[in-house]
Amino acid sequence: MASRALVIGPADYAPDSGIASHPEIGQSARMYGQVLESDPRWGTDAVEVLPAEQLGSVNDVMGAVQRTADQAEPGDTLLVVYVGHGACWSDMPDDQVHLAVGSSRLLQPHTWLSSWYVYRAIRRSRASLKVLIADCCYSNLLPQLSGEGTKRGPLGVGAEGTCVLTATKNNPRADAKGCPRLPDGLDTCTPFSGHLLDVLTRGTRHHDDELTLGLLRDAVQARMHGCDTPHDLPNMILNGGREGMPLFTNRMARPDRERTPSAPASAEEWVETMMRESPYPLDRLLDDPANAGRVVTLLAQQANDAGRRLALRVNERANRYFERPELFAQYWAEAGQALLA
Ligand SMILES: [Zn+2]
Repeated sequence: MASRALVIGPADYAPDSGIASHPEIGQSARMYGQVLESDPRWGTDAVEVLPAEQLGSVNDVMGAVQRTADQAEPGDTLLVVYVGHGACWSDMPDDQVHLAVGSSRLLQPHTWLSSWYVYRAIRRSRASLKVLIADCCYSNLLPQLSGEGTKRGPLGVGAEGTCVLTATKNNPRADAKGCPRLPDGLDTCTPFSGHLLDVLTRGTRHHDDELTLGLLRDAVQARMHGCDTPHDLPNMILNGGREGMPLFTNRMARPDRERTPSAPASAEEWVETMMRESPYPLDRLLDDPANAGRVVTLLAQQANDAGRRLALRVNERANRYFERPELFAQYWAEAGQALLA
């Protein structure tokens, strides 16, 4: 399995375009690149930050999105990050968000990149988990990624394996000015991306070794809320309901994190604990492949989406954890039928 990330951050616009150039946009894009490259779940080969000369036109940007989406294979994670200006015109047939590229002009919608093109490319990608992080105005209007044209992946995660994480901003004049409370390099990013990247760099106190989208959202919201700089708080929307999916490494040192909770015993106790959202040491479950498989089956059989989502989370971890085929076989003998159902 591999992961692919594309970071798009057009910071410069023509002086007469009517669109403000913000160095914070370019700095955010560079820092997404650095932070992802140093995350063991991603790494140098997995991350592309579009250089300034490829941010100039809709064609260039869309070409990069298409190429990255096409490269991803089943089992991969596809992450597209957009930092920049978003626009939405009241006389459009529906709320279609448009994203600025270098040659965009404020009053000319045809010079902007329609988010529908980006969505279409991502939706058609064969990646098993697809995530869009959008740090722009009107990102609250971005629809779910899952939808028409989404194919189910080999483990049935296709249609559900999509998520949009947005820094909801209604105000078209949202302040891009960096937060001085953030460490060097992040203090000159946009406040949302700066705080998000700070969470990725420092990790969270959660006991788990992985940062799920839900943990990331909660940590960014908490830190922006608790920040000495008053922030226009992002109402981060995890649209697509994939909050249990691990996406990044939790980089806080183990001793600084909360104590690992004790492990439930039987498969039934595991399910009860997980459904209650009490803390649980997921890696301990994977010490026993067959039991992990039984838990996945019981979760998948729950009469609600939360159970199914948890089942997919355990499965995602199991796919990476059981490198020895005989261990994976023990797991899959118990879990396979329920996941393929
Ligand atoms: Zn702040």
